[in-house]
Amino acid sequence: MDILRAEGISKTYRTGSVEVKALKQCSINIQKGDFTAVIGKSGSGKSTLLRILGTIDKPDSGKVYIDDTDISTLNNKSLARFRRTKIGFIYQDYSLVPEYTAYENIILPIILDGKKPDRDEVSRIMDILSIGHCLRKLPSQMSGGEQQMLAMGRALMSHPRMIVMDEPSMGLAPILVEQIFKIIQTLHEAGTTILLVEQNAQAALSIADRGYVLETGKIVTSGTGTELLASPEIKKAYL
Ligand code: ADP
Ligand code: MG
Repeated sequence: MDILRAEGISKTYRTGSVEVKALKQCSINIQKGDFTAVIGKSGSGKSTLLRILGTIDKPDSGKVYIDDTDISTLNNKSLARFRRTKIGFIYQDYSLVPEYTAYENIILPIILDGKKPDRDEVSRIMDILSIGHCLRKLPSQMSGGEQQMLAMGRALMSHPRMIVMDEPSMGLAPILVEQIFKIIQTLHEAGTTILLVEQNAQAALSIADRGYVLETGKIVTSGTGTELLASPEIKKAYL
């Protein structure tokens, strides 16, 4: 069964008289348990695609189905709940609340869902992500890598069946990139569906089951991670 399906998604941004066709007729389908990577250079439309697939932005045309529900039929309240319970988001800018501590940030989705956070679980997740020492710190007192891990921890707290990530390796030291990709791989092995957009094609395609290549708003190629890594065009343009 497809956990997520997008059909013919298009999106144009208009700023004054300037138009940017950020996405042109993009279609993607992701099955339960899949690890899908979308690779593309800066400005190719990755974040736009991810926001639309993750239900936080609407396409101009085309449809997104999650578990066979056409999400355009949901009202804002059900959409917000849908998001919190079905999808764990890790945004490019982390979207942490600056005046909350790491602990408060990580339990936020649980509180919003009217549940009680399990302190032991928070500690366990923070230890796995090597940010156990940051519990009482504000995001501004944490490094970029620690903030990225915290954003990941927050996404994991609600045990989503699907995790959606916008360039988790961006701005991180190589050692942290390795660590974050290891964690992603462990989540995938535990059965979580993963959707990752990345400029770092090598890192993403070497662990993804399936990859899509996005160029100026269009999906130009797709295939297994191994196929794409071996393709001369991909090698030339991305590796
Ligand atoms: P990526 O994540 O691959 O870098 P984006 O999805 O952020 O790409 O952007 C795709 C294109 O759309 C770029 O040309 C970008 O400048 C433009 N764009 C993105 N967001 C906006 C916006 N809010 N308003 C106008 N143009 C935008
Ligand atoms: Mg982006």
